[in-house]
Amino acid sequence: MRENGRGVRFALKWEYGRRRRGKGHRRLILLVILLLAALVVAAYVLMRSGMLPQPWSATRAVPGEGGDKAAEARTSQQDEYVESQFLMNTYVSIRAFGAGAQAAVGAAFDEMRRVEGLMSRFVPTSDISRVNQAAGADPVRVSDETFMLLEKAQECSQLSGGAFDITIGPVVDAWGFGTDSPHVPDQGALAKATALVNFRAVGLDPVAKTARLAVPGMSIDLGGIAKGYAGDRAAAVLREHGVEHALIDAGGNIVAVGTRPDGSPWHIGIRDPRGTSPTDTIGPVVEVRDRAVVTSGDYERFFMEGRRRYHHIFDPKTGMPATRAESATVIARDSLDADMLSTAIFVLGPVEGMKMLERLDGVAGMVVGADGKMTFSPGYPGR
Ligand code: ADP
Ligand code: MG
Repeated sequence: MRENGRGVRFALKWEYGRRRRGKGHRRLILLVILLLAALVVAAYVLMRSGMLPQPWSATRAVPGEGGDKAAEARTSQQDEYVESQFLMNTYVSIRAFGAGAQAAVGAAFDEMRRVEGLMSRFVPTSDISRVNQAAGADPVRVSDETFMLLEKAQECSQLSGGAFDITIGPVVDAWGFGTDSPHVPDQGALAKATALVNFRAVGLDPVAKTARLAVPGMSIDLGGIAKGYAGDRAAAVLREHGVEHALIDAGGNIVAVGTRPDGSPWHIGIRDPRGTSPTDTIGPVVEVRDRAVVTSGDYERFFMEGRRRYHHIFDPKTGMPATRAESATVIARDSLDADMLSTAIFVLGPVEGMKMLERLDGVAGMVVGADGKMTFSPGYPGR
């Protein structure tokens, strides 16, 4: 603190002034304070009831956090219903608005569980488990939905030059992801697992709707695509139930149904891959209606050994966690597309990833590179 004559003089002046004020002044000040407090309370009540706009309504929904706080505050009396459930190995939260929202959300969760039952390789009776069990043997008849997903995945593999490959199963297993003890595998085991990864060895028969893995030990893992499809299905069920405004958040896979209840777009913040809290965001806030915003990140599932981070998205060529990006975000009409593309461009990294997106219509993306730098595709909203 600097001490000089002036400071002391000012303090004295103030003291002097205070002493000179009479009791009448003090009452007046008290009255003004009371009046201001009454005004603040009245404004707050009006904002909660929606009669006044909220100054903080620009806050954002953050993937993983489950929603838009502004909408929550403003519309808490407008038949809003929010529910979270653990499924597909992640917390899924659905918030929907309108009469019948609760029943609609219940039906949407049922639908997601149905999709999980078809597509998870950890459900022994699922389509995918049956295909995996028959690797190297006969083709297996699968549901139309599973077949469609397998075809889509094959398309994405072609498009990404093999960066996206659903036959990654043996590598995921070698690293112990999906178990309680992920670990760095020994070289030999990893080489064996990586040799089994080959999307070209998946035989799909579009007439018989069968799938076949050519080599024993191969296995399909739809972890990079199934949540996306489940999100699309949940959105469809919500719409069938008459819901026009909803937000589905499946651990970074966000599907926006319509707009917010007041007609404004949903605001989605993209998680900062190196943020200290899941609510730390990076890049522009994305404003969307009827869109999916999906982020794949190396922070979703990982373990540290020494100073290295080992995570769950692998380069199919090496069997090692992909190192070109910290996160990749894709915005698309369907969350199925956004999900597989975000995994693909995560593996490809900013340069190759953007080249791939530029060849596609109706999608936009952002990659946070290994250096933390953001790269955007043309048409990325908010830029
Ligand atoms: P998250 O599941 O965290 O949302 P992703 O959508 O990127 O992230 O999917 C990652 C999952 O996809 C992994 O857990 C694994 O099951 C599978 N996977 C890992 N690497 C690949 C890859 N190169 N191609 C396709 N699927 C992959
Ligand atoms: Mg994905």
